[in-house]
Amino acid sequence: MQKRHFGPLEALVPVVGQGTWQMERDDPREVVRALRRGIELGMTHVDTAELYGAGVVEELVGDAIAGVRDRVFLASKVRPEHATYAGTILACERSLQRLRTDHLDLYLLHWRGALPLEDTLRAMTTLRDEGKIRAFGVSNFDVADLEAALELVGERQIACNQVLYHLGERDIEHVLLPFCERHHIAVVGYSPFGSGQFAEAGSWRRSVLERVGRAHQATAHAVALRFLVRRPALFAIPKASTLAHVESNADAGDLVLSDAEVAEIAAAFPVGEPRSRLPFM
Ligand code: NAP
Repeated sequence: MQKRHFGPLEALVPVVGQGTWQMERDDPREVVRALRRGIELGMTHVDTAELYGAGVVEELVGDAIAGVRDRVFLASKVRPEHATYAGTILACERSLQRLRTDHLDLYLLHWRGALPLEDTLRAMTTLRDEGKIRAFGVSNFDVADLEAALELVGERQIACNQVLYHLGERDIEHVLLPFCERHHIAVVGYSPFGSGQFAEAGSWRRSVLERVGRAHQATAHAVALRFLVRRPALFAIPKASTLAHVESNADAGDLVLSDAEVAEIAAAFPVGEPRSRLPFM
């Protein structure tokens, strides 16, 4: 599994990690088995949030990482309505309890809400000083939000921006991704399979992915993931509760696509006109 520097951090993080949204709907034993298999295969970036299943998913992640915590790059998120100074610290402590760990590798503001960003980021800095988190970042931030955050904490403090990015939604490539690249902010693409909206079986777009996949003994999904992490700032966090899906996603970690293959995929899934607002789930 290929790893690379994550924004300004020293840590090396796998290009493909594991998402956990809506895992409370799946069989808990399958979820834990799938996450553990993913960790074994190098997908050690595990992304969760206090929001997911109202804490139930963090508990499942806690089960999955028990005994292998030191191999995991563990990320969670604070809900915007909790993100006052004191609320952020409390939310983080509750997440640590549910995850049964003493620190997070990464703590994110889930999206920018109505509370002052200054207070949230001050709390993030305190949490980092106290060793409860190793790094902090943001999610669903557009350029104006990032500029406001950079103004408050300075360069090389914001580890990442986690945003919607899949083959059917490449809007970040217009402005946000280049901005993040210039400011050493990792871009973690969420819902890399469109959260169930992947190119339909039998469609010509799907056949492009399958043709490329055949040349590498990889699935269409693995090819898509590899495309989505083709630039050094990019990471992806697919969610999979099925062992076969986990194994296919892990294959993307070492795939090497040629320039011609990347161009063919880009043409089949065009970037489209820039949107006026950052798309999100
Ligand atoms: P996704 O990863 O785009 O898609 C998940 C779906 O794809 C599931 O139905 C899964 O099935 C299926 N799948 C996974 N691997 C597959 C494979 N190799 N072949 C075929 N199907 C496959 O959806 P997502 O959960 O929306 O996004 C991923 C993660 O991003 C989330 O779990 C969450 O951690 C994060 N996220 C963050 C935000 C945010 O606001 N920051 C928003 C949305 C998501 P099975 O589960 O049955 O295996």
